[in-house]
Order: sequence, then structure tokens, then C-alpha cells
Amino acid sequence: MSKETNAELHERARKVIPGGVNSPVRAFGAVGGSPRFFARGEGAYVVDEEGKRYLDFMQSWGPLILGHCHPEVIEVIQNKAALGTSFGAPCRVEVELAEAVVAAYPGLEQVRFVSSGTEAVMSAIRLARGATGRDLIVKFAGCYHGHADHLLVAAGSGLATAGQPSSAGVPKDFAALTRVLPLNDEAAAKALFAAEGSRIAAVIIEPIPANNGLLLQPKEFLLTLRRLTQEAGALLIFDEVISGFRVAKGGAAELFGITPDLATFGKVIGGGLPVGAYGGSKALMSHIAPEGPVYQAGTLSGNPVAMAAGLATLRILEREKAWTKLEEMGARLEKEINTQLAGVNVPWALTRVGSIFWLSFQGKEAPRSAEALDQNAGALFKPLFHAMLDRGIYLPPSAYEVMFLGLAHTDADIALFAKTLREVLTAPPA
Ligand SMILES: *Cc1c(COP(=O)(O)O)cnc(C)c1O
Repeated sequence: MSKETNAELHERARKVIPGGVNSPVRAFGAVGGSPRFFARGEGAYVVDEEGKRYLDFMQSWGPLILGHCHPEVIEVIQNKAALGTSFGAPCRVEVELAEAVVAAYPGLEQVRFVSSGTEAVMSAIRLARGATGRDLIVKFAGCYHGHADHLLVAAGSGLATAGQPSSAGVPKDFAALTRVLPLNDEAAAKALFAAEGSRIAAVIIEPIPANNGLLLQPKEFLLTLRRLTQEAGALLIFDEVISGFRVAKGGAAELFGITPDLATFGKVIGGGLPVGAYGGSKALMSHIAPEGPVYQAGTLSGNPVAMAAGLATLRILEREKAWTKLEEMGARLEKEINTQLAGVNVPWALTRVGSIFWLSFQGKEAPRSAEALDQNAGALFKPLFHAMLDRGIYLPPSAYEVMFLGLAHTDADIALFAKTLREVLTAPPA
């Protein structure tokens, strides 16, 4: 049997799947060329259908904090699958994972499992509206919260105006219930609350915005949001789909020492299988059906195999003192990059929180808001991405996506990344 190339597979996929992919950025639209079709993963590495091996700094966009195919996680999945893949009825392992999540995260008393980060955020928004009896949602430009209608919204013109749909198919009337603020702008947040505070159900933010580069926020800004929401009787939602169980056991809430009213999870919590979750105090969560009037359900929610993969992952993270280790690895990466890129004549900046990192090339200062992002970063990133790919290093295929370290990366992998980056940035233009 002759093997198909990545390009041939993409052609075949395009006939039956829009763009040949099941999530848009996978199509390599921003970087050009054929997306790689992966056949398997091995720790920090992935192998494509052509048999080429890459050192992977995407790690499935974050879930694989232990690396690909961690033997203990795989064993748990195999054993659990053999006992039944879905019941549509309660199972013990979902209780165990819920207990682990509640114990880990500040202020969390109850949690509800769903099947994706999008679903978690969508449900948390409905809960916030149901619990407060208000309709307005506030989000920040540059934060991503999945693809639910009310959050695919861009800033309108002027401060207290309705948001604009950022996707076709989102009704203007939905977007009109979302306000979009700039990150790291206390005055704008205060002005909005002064004007409309009593109508706001919730403010949602990625406390560590990691979907538009890594736009680190000062703790003071998050504290201001905590105070404004509290005073207005609105809820503060931390979207910890990326940061939860990655930057600390208790996510960004633990790191900043700020407790939100609701938190959403995904990615790491499923250990590589489709899991999302949202949670908060028992009082808030009691608004959810069947205890309360806010409806939310899922045929595959609390899926036993996915719950087991998530639980195994959290237990290994705890046992391996992962959060300390990942911070050490991140610090090592920072040092290697600082050394390798010291004399390189490119205005680069490295932004990092633990094992999440991002390289920007728009100056020595990393941006802290979407407005400060270089709109041309894509053009610069494209040759860098392909030069790294040619040398066997897989980065996320966009200038605005962060990279991830996981426990599977070795010191040698980290050194190789920094050295290759130097080679690529100092190579004469083709
Ligand atoms: C990935 C992500 C989501 C969406 O999760 P999906 O599982 O892709 O639906 C939501 N919020 C944040 C912060 C994310 O990074």
C-alpha cells in the first residue's frame, strides 16, 4: 500500500471536510503549505503520515501537559474503555474527578462536566445570566472563549455601545448584549460599570490571556475587575480553559490570589480527551438543572473514559510536583533563548507564565492588549514557522498562538529549540 503524503491527504480531506480540517487554524491558512497529518505522538514528539518526526511545542494546544501517550494515562484509558465507553448515567470516576477539581481550585464548591471548553463557557454565561437575572456580558478584546454566539463579538465604536458580531451567523441582537473592553485599561472598565453596572450579569476574562499571543495582565487590573463586579452585583468569570491545572494546581486564581465567582476549564482537565467543566460556589451552582431553573445537559457529559484520563492526568501532575518542574523548565527555556538570541538583530521578546510561552517580534516590550499587537506579525512569522518545521520543530501555525512545554520535554529538547531558533533567525534570507 502506497502511503499518501500530507498534501494528498489534505486534498482528500478538502473534498469532504470544509477546508479539510475540523478546526480552522489547523489548515495552515496563516502560514501556507500543507497541514501535517499526524499519525502518532511520542512524549514531546509527533510523527506525521510521511514518517517525519517533529519536536512538538503545540502539544495539542495545551491539553497534553504530560506529553503524548503518557503510558499511565494510556493504560487507564484502555482499561476504562474495556468496561464501557458511555452509560448516559452517573459513574464513580466523574465524582472522583469533581472532588479533585473542587479541592484544587480556589472558591470552587461544585463543578459540572461538559465536553469542550466552548460548552463550559457557554454554560457559565447562561448560569451567570440566570443567577443574576441580567443579560449583559462583558469580555475583553484579545481574549478567546470558544465559539459560542455571545462571545464571537468584537468591539463596536465607542465605549458603551453594543458589540459587533465577529463571525457571520451571529445575530446582531446577540452581539448587542456583549460589551467589549480593551485589556489592561482600568479607566475603560470603570466607565462601563459607571454607565451600565446594574445591567451586567458577568465579566469574563482569561486571567492569563493566551489566545492572541500571551497578553500578560497586571494583578491590579484583575483586582479592579474583582472589585467592580462585586460592587455592581455582577459575577466575575475566569476562563481557565488554558491556564487551569497548567500554571498552578489552582490555575491563575491561585497564582494571582484572586477568587472568581465562576471558573471554566478544558484542555488539561481531560488529559487529551474531550472534557470541559464549569464551577463555582454551591449557591451559584444550585441554579443549574435539576436543582435550579438554568438548563444544561449533555449525552456524553461525564464520559467515563474521558473522566478517567483527566483524573489520571491530575494525579500524575500532583505526584510529579509538575507545577514546580514546569516553572523550572520554563525558566531554563527563557535562559537558553536569552543566551542564543543575545546578539540576534531582530526585535524579539519572550513572554512566559510557567510552561506557556510566546515569542513576539515587534520590539523589546511584549504587548499587553490586542490593540498593541502588531497586525503584521503574520508575515514575519510565516518564514520562521516553515524554517522551524523544516528543521523538525513543530510550532502552532500562527504568530498569535502560544507554545507549550510539558513534562515530556527534556533539557536537550529545550536547548535544541533555542539553538534552532537562533539558526533560523540568523540564516541569510532565501
Ligand atoms: C481553547 C479555549 C476555549 C475553547 O475550548 P474548546 O475546547 O476549543 O471548545 C475557551 N476558552 C479558552 C481560554 C481557550 O483557550
